[in-house]
Amino acid sequence: MSNPKRSNRAKDLKVRVCQAIDTRAAALIECALDLHAHPEIAFEEVRSAAALADRLRQAGLEVTLPAYGLDTAFAAEFGTTGPVLGIVAEYDALPGLGHACGHNVIGTSALGAALGLADLGDDLPGRIRLLGTPAEEGGGGKVFMAREGAFDGLDCAMMVHPADRNLSRFPLIAAAWMTATFHGRSAHAAATPEAGINALDGLVTAYNAIAALRQQVPGDHRVHAIIREGGTATNIIPDRAVGAFGLRAPSREALEALKIRVKDCLQAGAMAAGAQVEIVDDPVQYHELISNTPLADCFRTNAEGLGREFEAVEDLSGSNVASTDFGNVSHLIPAIHPMMATVPRGTAFHTPQFAQHCADDVAMTAMLDAAKAMAMTAIDIMCDADLQNDMKTAFRRATTQT
Ligand SMILES: [Zn+2]
Ligand SMILES: [Zn+2]
Repeated sequence: MSNPKRSNRAKDLKVRVCQAIDTRAAALIECALDLHAHPEIAFEEVRSAAALADRLRQAGLEVTLPAYGLDTAFAAEFGTTGPVLGIVAEYDALPGLGHACGHNVIGTSALGAALGLADLGDDLPGRIRLLGTPAEEGGGGKVFMAREGAFDGLDCAMMVHPADRNLSRFPLIAAAWMTATFHGRSAHAAATPEAGINALDGLVTAYNAIAALRQQVPGDHRVHAIIREGGTATNIIPDRAVGAFGLRAPSREALEALKIRVKDCLQAGAMAAGAQVEIVDDPVQYHELISNTPLADCFRTNAEGLGREFEAVEDLSGSNVASTDFGNVSHLIPAIHPMMATVPRGTAFHTPQFAQHCADDVAMTAMLDAAKAMAMTAIDIMCDADLQNDMKTAFRRATTQT
């Protein structure tokens, strides 16, 4: 049980932080709409990062931009002594679709939480490190930032993602990418086809082998494939073909096993065509998210206090999965990635409809609620040593199991 004195202190601070966020509501909504109106894709979020950093500076906070080796990453740390909590802002958009994953809401909710907590001044019983993390949508900004120490010294980290419902945790699975380049020998396709080695045939055979493999792997595994290069002219046997592959599985271990099977398919295709294949693993891989249960429960209680109703993750359809570079963070420190109802029920991620709804009034309310729920959760953690211990124990258990 938590110390009642601490609880009263937390209660008072939570009321104050919510009032502070309400006072800033109009400015936060303006920021979220501004990011929405100027979508920028992975590693190109110059304007978005500056927009968030400027608003932090206007509130008197010191901001480092660029940070942790990335031009469009930033960091702002403030507070007194005590636990150091990470709040994560994403703000990258999708090519051609704008904010179809609602990262304008994520970035601004993180900003709102940080500003609300900063407004507590010396009464904040800990430290906050707000991290602006670029390139979640393919690029793995957090993976690079983690290598540069962005998450070192943090007791935990949190962020909130838009969705069509409220969930305290979400199945975010491991993902990896690879490129396969098939090398053959060109020849005149009519005069001397027998002199050629058809690299495209190798790739197509591999593609079909992978298509067959999909039926023989568990239902929660995914393999995506596209053909990037498949020859230059019909009268030349292609001496080069390039395919790109995305793989997902519920855990890092399952992903490694899936990678071996996909690589076997690629080799088999090459062998059938008499070609050679060169397989390059993308250096960035996303780990599955380890959702810290005590933290997720604390966030949920705080969000329920704002009138939000949560659903069990078990009620989601089995195919409703995604991956995030925040998964890698959750293997380093206790972390949560709850979802907040931002778009109408049934709106799918990465669609024009999702993008459109991320500027609605409902989305702006979600952004403010996410800011408040994160800020209140931060206060709970800072004020409650038992919660800190529970969080650490849960993290240890989860990471030694996996
Ligand atoms: Zn996305
Ligand atoms: Zn997203």
